[in-house]
Amino acid sequence: MNDCCTIKKPAMEFTCPRTGTKGTPVKNQLVHFKVQGKYQHLIDSKQAYRFCNDADCEVVYFGDGGSLILKEHLAEPVGIKEFGKAPDYPVCHCFNFKKSDIQSEFEKSENFTIPTQISVYIKEQLCACEVRNPSGKCCLGFVNKVVKAVKANWSLYDIHGV
Ligand SMILES: [Zn+2]
Repeated sequence: MNDCCTIKKPAMEFTCPRTGTKGTPVKNQLVHFKVQGKYQHLIDSKQAYRFCNDADCEVVYFGDGGSLILKEHLAEPVGIKEFGKAPDYPVCHCFNFKKSDIQSEFEKSENFTIPTQISVYIKEQLCACEVRNPSGKCCLGFVNKVVKAVKANWSLYDIHGV
């Protein structure tokens, strides 16, 4: 298999230098896919990378040799890092659902069919989380979290933001 497509074994245990989180191992292929063209050179193919799960940390990927990929280097925002902060952000990177898609469906029909739709696609093996989703993992948990937030926000405040 091509070297870019496997998850590299780190030289040693390493954590996010800003928050100390252990992070989730990701393929270098995913890091390249997420980073803007002008910042591709920041990615070191010799390093193993992990995704920083801390929602408040500016670091998205950190390498076992000190390489850092920050939010500003990415081509699009990372949903879990924008939750409760930005008005809109991607929630599912395999099928391009955004928070605004979940919200507008709910405003129109008071219904949430997007998680079911994604589940069907997953069963049909159409998802590609390990090379599309910033964390390299399935997005469904986060989609459900956003659904809950949209619903709670609607019933509590009756505002269309957040
Ligand atoms: Zn971090």
